[in-house]
Amino acid sequence: MKTIKHSIVIWLLAIGILVISNSLTGCGGGGASSGPSTSGPPPVVTPSPDKGVSIGASGLTRSIPLIITLPNTVPQNSSTPISQAWPINTLITMDAPDIFGDRQFSKWTSNGTQLATTPHLEITISDPHEDITAVYKPRLVSADGFLPNYVHETDPQTGKLNQLFHWAVFPVKVAFVSNVGLSSDRENEAVAGFDQWVKVTNQFITYQLVADAASADITVSFVAQGTNNRGGSTTYSADGNGNLQHTDIVLNLTYLSQLSNVMPIAMHEFGHALGIAGHSNTSTDIMSVLSNIYTLQQPSPRDVNMLLTAYTSSYGRSIKHSIINGTVLCGR
Ligand SMILES: [Zn+2]
Repeated sequence: MKTIKHSIVIWLLAIGILVISNSLTGCGGGGASSGPSTSGPPPVVTPSPDKGVSIGASGLTRSIPLIITLPNTVPQNSSTPISQAWPINTLITMDAPDIFGDRQFSKWTSNGTQLATTPHLEITISDPHEDITAVYKPRLVSADGFLPNYVHETDPQTGKLNQLFHWAVFPVKVAFVSNVGLSSDRENEAVAGFDQWVKVTNQFITYQLVADAASADITVSFVAQGTNNRGGSTTYSADGNGNLQHTDIVLNLTYLSQLSNVMPIAMHEFGHALGIAGHSNTSTDIMSVLSNIYTLQQPSPRDVNMLLTAYTSSYGRSIKHSIINGTVLCGR
């Protein structure tokens, strides 16, 4: 009896060792594992719900705006580069601008593989790590810039040939000068005018409102200047390569008794401040000097082409200027 009991104890011990041994090395799946044996406990493997995604752009020197939409959410405005974690199997859509300055959208790629050739991309987040790129290519530019424009027209206000300048970096900093002419209503209307340029250029033009006028690139002030036949004026300074250094916009309150007049004249003067030193002869352009600009709601295609032509120099086409300081006076 004593021997049998001892034997049972040994067997129980042996079974216990087997169980422990199995728990150390077994991982299910019937022995398919061929990895090196380890003496420590197995790693705790839990499914990762999120996957890191990087989104960038190539073929241009600036970040681009993107609209990103997740399931059951409102579209979000963002800009490259983006590094974000999303749950695996999430369907996300991305919309990039088709035209961005002198660049044209070409394709979406992921880790070198083409995903789509349209600016609208739908993609399901999956393993492995997604590395998504919006690829841009140069857009054909004529010797006269993007056409039609009014680069070669004479400013009817001054009799001088139109000129173009450009800012080296966006966003430009814009400040409203705090004076008796400034009100939140007027500021809001002016901002609505500035925003039209941002919109029609697919956010190629961007600006940032700052409180301190001393640190701003562009200042904006509301001043009653009397009946001088000018709804506004913009004073600018630029270096010899056409790079704007500073611009000052003055909006003449004498002609802005109607609040609704602020938006179009602010849009017009912002066009000057962004680099259009001159005027159009066509009444449907916001950069016209004709009084009917107060009825216009956004820059025309000619206005957009005029402005983007100024920025082709950002990619190597340099226009030399002899005049580096000036003021554009605007009729009403
Ligand atoms: Zn003007």
